[in-house]
Amino acid sequence: DQARPAVLLTGPVMEEVVERQLASRFDLLPLDALSDATAAAVRAIATRGKERVDEALMARLPALKIVANFGVGYDTVDAAAAARRGVIVTNTPDVLNEEVADLTLGLLLATVRQIPQADRFVRDGKWLKGAYPLGPTLRERTVGIVGMGRIGKAIARRLEAFAVPVAYHSRRQQPDVDLPYFASLLDLARAVSVLVVIVPGGAATRHLVNADVLAALGPDGILINVARGTVVDEAALLKALQSRTILAAGLDVFEKEPHVPEAFLGLDNVVLLPHVGSSTHHTRAAMGQLVVDNIVAFLDGKGPLTPVAETPWPKA
Ligand code: NDP
Repeated sequence: DQARPAVLLTGPVMEEVVERQLASRFDLLPLDALSDATAAAVRAIATRGKERVDEALMARLPALKIVANFGVGYDTVDAAAAARRGVIVTNTPDVLNEEVADLTLGLLLATVRQIPQADRFVRDGKWLKGAYPLGPTLRERTVGIVGMGRIGKAIARRLEAFAVPVAYHSRRQQPDVDLPYFASLLDLARAVSVLVVIVPGGAATRHLVNADVLAALGPDGILINVARGTVVDEAALLKALQSRTILAAGLDVFEKEPHVPEAFLGLDNVVLLPHVGSSTHHTRAAMGQLVVDNIVAFLDGKGPLTPVAETPWPKA
C-alpha cells in the first residue's frame, strides 16, 4: 500500500494558502481523523498554534519529520520533545514584525488616549451633553520594551518617530540596539511609565509581569501586552487595574483565550483585543506561505527555512 505522505492539521490552517498548496502534494489529515491506520503516513504537522503538539501526539507518528507552526510564537509546540525525537520545528519569524508592531502602536495609542472609550462616548450620544473629559498623554513618558527581539525592535523604531524615549529589558543586552538596557525587569518598571511586553510565551516567561512589577510601574503606569497571556499574572493585573495601582492596560492576549475574565469587561481603564496582532490578509498569507515553504523545502531534502532555536538543525 503506497499511501501518499500525509500532513496532519491540528486545526484549520489558512485554507486558501496552506491547505490548498499542501493538498496538491500530500494527503491532508485533520486531527480527528488520526488513527493507528492513518498515523503511519504522517510526515509533517501544520499547526496554527491553538492545539498542543506534545510528546504524546508526536509519539503516535512514527514517520513524523517536521512540525511547521503558523505563527512566530510556538509555545504550544513541545520543541524540546521534538528535538529529542529528531523532529524539526519551524515557525514564521520576520514576515509579521511590521504588522504586529503596527498593532502594538495602535493599542498603545488606544489605551493612553482612550480611543475606544471616546468612540463609545460618541455612539452613546454623550457628546451632545458636553465634551469628552481631558485624559492621559503619551508625552513625557518613557516606554520600556520587555523583549527587544525582532518585533520589539520594530516597535522601538516606531516609538522613535513618535519622539518617545525607549528603554528595554531582555536576558541579554542586544549589541545592535543603542537604547538604555535594564538587566532587571523591576528596575525597568521603576524607570518607565509604559511597559510593552513582547517576549515569547512558555514556562520561562510565565508571570514575568507580576504584582511586584505592576506596583513598580506605579499609578501613572500603562501595561501593553501583545506577547502571550501567560506572561502576565492576569489576576494581579485585574487587581492593579481595579485598585488603580496602575493607570490602564491594553491587552491583545489572555491566559485562557478566547475566554477573557468577566471582570475586565466592566473596567473603563482597559482596552481588550481578540489576539489580532498579525491578523490581516496580507500578513497571514505571508505566514501561511512560510509554513508551506518550510514543509516542502524540508521534505524535498533542502532543509527547513526557519527552524526554531531548539531544533536539531543544522546537523554537525
Ligand atoms: P524574538 O525571539 O525575536 O524576541 C524575543 C525577545 O524576548 C528577545 O529579545 C529575547 O531576548 C527576549 N526574551 C526571551 N525570553 C525572555 C525572558 N525569559 N526574559 C526576558 N526576555 C526574554 O521573538 P519575536 O520578536 O519574533 O516574537 C516575540 C513574541 O511575540 C512571540 O514569541 C509571540 O509569542 C509574540 N507574538 C504575538 C503576536 C500577537 O498576535 N499578539 C504576534 C506575533 C508574535 P533574550 O533571549 O536575550 O532574553
